[in-house]
Amino acid sequence: MTQRIVLASANEGKIAEIQTILQQHAIEAIPQSAFDVLDVAETGMTFIENAIIKARHAASITKLPAIADDSGLEVDALGGSPGVYSARYAGLPSNDKNNTDKLLRALATIPTEQRSARFHCTMVFMAHANDPSPLIGHGVWDGRITLERFGDKGFGYDPVFYVPERNCTSAQLDQSFKNSISHRAQALQTLMPQIARFYTHKT
Ligand code: IMP
Repeated sequence: MTQRIVLASANEGKIAEIQTILQQHAIEAIPQSAFDVLDVAETGMTFIENAIIKARHAASITKLPAIADDSGLEVDALGGSPGVYSARYAGLPSNDKNNTDKLLRALATIPTEQRSARFHCTMVFMAHANDPSPLIGHGVWDGRITLERFGDKGFGYDPVFYVPERNCTSAQLDQSFKNSISHRAQALQTLMPQIARFYTHKT
Protein backbone atom coordinates (compact mmCIF):
# COMPACT_ATOMS: atom_id res chain seq x y z
CA MET A 1 0.00 0.00 0.00
CA THR A 2 1.29 3.47 -0.88
CA GLN A 3 2.02 5.62 2.16
CA ARG A 4 1.29 9.36 2.02
CA ILE A 5 3.61 11.97 3.49
CA VAL A 6 3.32 15.75 3.45
CA LEU A 7 6.38 17.79 2.42
CA ALA A 8 6.73 20.98 4.42
CA SER A 9 8.34 23.00 1.64
CA ALA A 10 7.33 25.44 -1.06
CA ASN A 11 10.54 25.01 -3.06
CA GLU A 12 9.70 23.13 -6.28
CA GLY A 13 13.25 21.87 -6.78
CA LYS A 14 13.37 20.36 -3.31
CA ILE A 15 9.89 18.85 -3.69
CA ALA A 16 10.78 17.15 -6.99
CA GLU A 17 14.06 15.82 -5.56
CA ILE A 18 12.40 14.33 -2.47
CA GLN A 19 9.41 12.97 -4.43
CA THR A 20 11.67 11.06 -6.84
CA ILE A 21 13.50 9.27 -4.05
CA LEU A 22 10.40 8.51 -1.94
CA GLN A 23 8.55 7.10 -4.97
CA GLN A 24 11.15 4.34 -5.16
CA HIS A 25 9.97 3.29 -1.69
CA ALA A 26 6.26 3.40 -2.59
CA ILE A 27 5.79 6.60 -0.60
CA GLU A 28 3.76 9.43 -2.10
CA ALA A 29 5.11 12.82 -1.04
CA ILE A 30 2.54 15.61 -1.33
CA PRO A 31 3.59 19.27 -1.05
CA GLN A 32 1.98 21.15 1.82
CA SER A 33 0.53 23.68 -0.65
CA ALA A 34 -1.90 20.94 -1.79
CA PHE A 35 -3.44 21.20 1.70
CA ASP A 36 -3.27 25.01 1.83
CA VAL A 37 -0.64 24.84 4.59
CA LEU A 38 1.15 28.19 4.77
CA ASP A 39 4.77 28.75 5.81
CA VAL A 40 5.37 28.92 9.55
CA ALA A 41 7.79 31.31 11.30
CA GLU A 42 11.25 29.71 11.63
CA THR A 43 11.97 30.81 15.18
CA GLY A 44 14.55 28.15 16.11
CA MET A 45 18.22 28.81 16.76
CA THR A 46 19.34 25.59 15.09
CA PHE A 47 18.62 23.80 11.81
CA ILE A 48 17.05 20.90 13.67
CA GLU A 49 14.68 23.15 15.64
CA ASN A 50 13.51 24.88 12.47
CA ALA A 51 13.07 21.62 10.58
CA ILE A 52 10.97 20.23 13.44
CA ILE A 53 8.87 23.42 13.65
CA LYS A 54 8.07 23.12 9.92
CA ALA A 55 7.35 19.36 10.00
CA ARG A 56 5.19 19.64 13.14
CA HIS A 57 3.17 22.47 11.60
CA ALA A 58 2.47 20.51 8.38
CA ALA A 59 1.69 17.27 10.28
CA SER A 60 -0.61 19.05 12.67
CA ILE A 61 -2.74 20.57 9.89
CA THR A 62 -2.78 17.61 7.49
CA LYS A 63 -2.77 14.76 10.06
CA LEU A 64 -0.17 13.06 7.82
CA PRO A 65 3.46 12.17 8.56
CA ALA A 66 5.68 15.07 7.49
CA ILE A 67 9.15 15.71 6.11
CA ALA A 68 10.83 19.10 6.44
CA ASP A 69 14.34 20.42 6.02
CA ASP A 70 16.28 23.45 7.05
CA SER A 71 19.59 24.51 5.63
CA GLY A 72 22.10 27.30 5.58
CA LEU A 73 25.66 28.41 4.97
CA GLU A 74 28.34 28.38 7.66
CA VAL A 75 31.36 30.63 6.97
CA ASP A 76 34.40 30.09 9.20
CA ALA A 77 35.78 33.63 8.91
CA LEU A 78 32.41 34.95 10.12
CA GLY A 79 32.25 32.69 13.18
CA GLY A 80 29.68 30.43 11.51
CA SER A 81 27.38 33.17 10.14
CA PRO A 82 24.99 33.44 8.38
CA GLY A 83 24.00 29.93 9.61
CA VAL A 84 20.31 29.57 10.41
CA TYR A 85 19.83 33.17 9.30
CA SER A 86 21.11 32.46 5.75
CA ALA A 87 17.80 33.23 4.05
CA ARG A 88 17.43 36.59 5.83
CA TYR A 89 21.10 37.57 6.26
CA ALA A 90 20.57 40.98 4.64
CA GLY A 91 17.17 41.46 6.29
CA LEU A 92 13.59 40.69 5.34
CA PRO A 93 12.01 40.14 2.87
CA SER A 94 14.67 37.57 1.95
CA ASN A 95 16.57 38.35 -1.22
CA ASP A 96 19.38 36.21 -2.68
CA LYS A 97 21.13 39.17 -4.33
CA ASN A 98 21.29 41.29 -1.17
CA ASN A 99 22.36 38.31 0.95
CA THR A 100 25.20 37.47 -1.43
CA ASP A 101 26.30 41.13 -1.71
CA LYS A 102 26.42 41.35 2.08
CA LEU A 103 28.46 38.14 2.32
CA LEU A 104 31.00 39.34 -0.25
CA ARG A 105 31.31 42.68 1.57
CA ALA A 106 31.78 40.96 4.94
CA LEU A 107 34.61 38.87 3.45
CA ALA A 108 36.18 41.64 1.35
CA THR A 109 39.47 41.65 3.30
CA ILE A 110 39.66 37.89 3.87
CA PRO A 111 42.20 36.02 1.72
CA THR A 112 41.22 32.96 -0.32
CA GLU A 113 42.74 30.38 2.04
CA GLN A 114 40.61 31.71 4.93
CA ARG A 115 37.30 31.69 3.05
CA SER A 116 36.30 28.12 3.94
CA ALA A 117 32.56 27.49 4.26
CA ARG A 118 30.01 24.74 4.16
CA PHE A 119 26.31 24.21 3.58
CA HIS A 120 24.41 22.27 6.23
CA CYS A 121 21.07 20.60 5.82
CA THR A 122 19.00 18.90 8.49
CA MET A 123 16.00 16.92 7.31
CA VAL A 124 13.41 15.38 9.63
CA PHE A 125 10.55 12.92 9.40
CA MET A 126 7.77 13.16 11.98
CA ALA A 127 5.21 10.36 12.11
CA HIS A 128 2.69 12.81 13.59
CA ALA A 129 2.65 16.31 15.08
CA ASN A 130 3.44 15.05 18.60
CA ASP A 131 6.10 12.56 17.54
CA PRO A 132 8.64 12.62 20.41
CA SER A 133 11.45 11.06 18.38
CA PRO A 134 11.65 12.53 14.88
CA LEU A 135 13.92 10.70 12.42
CA ILE A 136 16.85 12.94 11.49
CA GLY A 137 19.18 13.15 8.49
CA HIS A 138 22.09 15.58 8.25
CA GLY A 139 24.26 16.58 5.30
CA VAL A 140 27.32 18.82 5.00
CA TRP A 141 28.82 20.15 1.76
CA ASP A 142 32.29 21.72 2.07
CA GLY A 143 33.56 24.55 -0.10
CA ARG A 144 34.85 28.09 -0.10
CA ILE A 145 33.45 31.55 -0.77
CA THR A 146 34.74 33.11 -3.99
CA LEU A 147 35.80 36.76 -4.39
CA GLU A 148 33.00 37.42 -6.87
CA ARG A 149 30.01 35.69 -8.49
CA PHE A 150 30.42 32.94 -11.09
CA GLY A 151 27.55 31.13 -12.84
CA ASP A 152 23.84 31.75 -13.01
CA LYS A 153 22.24 28.42 -12.09
CA GLY A 154 20.84 27.43 -8.70
CA PHE A 155 19.76 29.89 -6.04
CA GLY A 156 20.87 31.52 -2.80
CA TYR A 157 24.64 31.57 -2.35
CA ASP A 158 25.36 29.19 -5.27
CA PRO A 159 27.22 31.81 -7.41
CA VAL A 160 29.81 32.36 -4.64
CA PHE A 161 30.09 28.78 -3.30
CA TYR A 162 33.24 27.25 -4.80
CA VAL A 163 33.24 23.45 -5.07
CA PRO A 164 36.93 22.36 -5.03
CA GLU A 165 36.33 18.89 -6.56
CA ARG A 166 34.78 20.51 -9.65
CA ASN A 167 36.82 23.72 -9.78
CA CYS A 168 33.70 25.86 -10.21
CA THR A 169 30.88 27.33 -8.14
CA SER A 170 27.68 25.45 -7.42
CA ALA A 171 25.94 27.93 -9.77
CA GLN A 172 28.10 26.54 -12.61
CA LEU A 173 27.31 22.91 -11.89
CA ASP A 174 24.74 20.93 -13.81
CA GLN A 175 21.84 21.20 -11.38
CA SER A 176 20.95 17.52 -11.43
CA PHE A 177 24.58 16.83 -10.49
CA LYS A 178 24.40 19.44 -7.71
CA ASN A 179 21.22 17.77 -6.47
CA SER A 180 23.02 14.44 -6.25
CA ILE A 181 25.92 15.65 -4.06
CA SER A 182 24.55 18.64 -2.15
CA HIS A 183 24.01 18.93 1.60
CA ARG A 184 20.30 18.29 0.93
CA ALA A 185 21.01 15.14 -1.08
CA GLN A 186 23.26 13.87 1.72
CA ALA A 187 20.64 14.63 4.38
CA LEU A 188 17.98 12.80 2.37
CA GLN A 189 20.32 9.86 1.84
CA THR A 190 20.84 9.46 5.59
CA LEU A 191 17.14 9.97 6.37
CA MET A 192 15.70 7.64 3.71
CA PRO A 193 16.81 4.30 5.19
CA GLN A 194 15.37 5.35 8.55
CA ILE A 195 12.00 6.13 6.92
CA ALA A 196 12.06 2.82 5.04
CA ARG A 197 12.74 1.01 8.33
CA PHE A 198 9.91 2.91 10.04
CA TYR A 199 7.38 1.72 7.43
CA THR A 200 8.74 -1.84 7.41
CA HIS A 201 8.22 -2.14 11.16
CA LYS A 202 4.83 -0.47 10.99
CA THR A 203 3.27 -2.76 8.37
P1 IMP B 1 16.38 26.55 3.24
O1 IMP B 1 16.27 26.27 4.69
O2 IMP B 1 16.69 25.35 2.43
O3 IMP B 1 15.24 27.35 2.71
O4 IMP B 1 17.69 27.45 3.05
C1 IMP B 1 17.90 28.65 3.76
C2 IMP B 1 18.85 29.53 2.98
O5 IMP B 1 20.15 28.92 2.92
C3 IMP B 1 18.46 29.76 1.53
O6 IMP B 1 17.57 30.84 1.41
C4 IMP B 1 19.80 30.06 0.88
O7 IMP B 1 20.16 31.40 1.12
C5 IMP B 1 20.75 29.17 1.66
N1 IMP B 1 20.89 27.87 0.95
C6 IMP B 1 20.44 26.66 1.36
N2 IMP B 1 20.73 25.71 0.46
C7 IMP B 1 21.39 26.32 -0.54
C8 IMP B 1 21.94 25.85 -1.78
O8 IMP B 1 21.87 24.68 -2.15
N3 IMP B 1 22.54 26.79 -2.53
C9 IMP B 1 22.62 28.11 -2.18
N4 IMP B 1 22.11 28.59 -1.07
C10 IMP B 1 21.49 27.71 -0.24
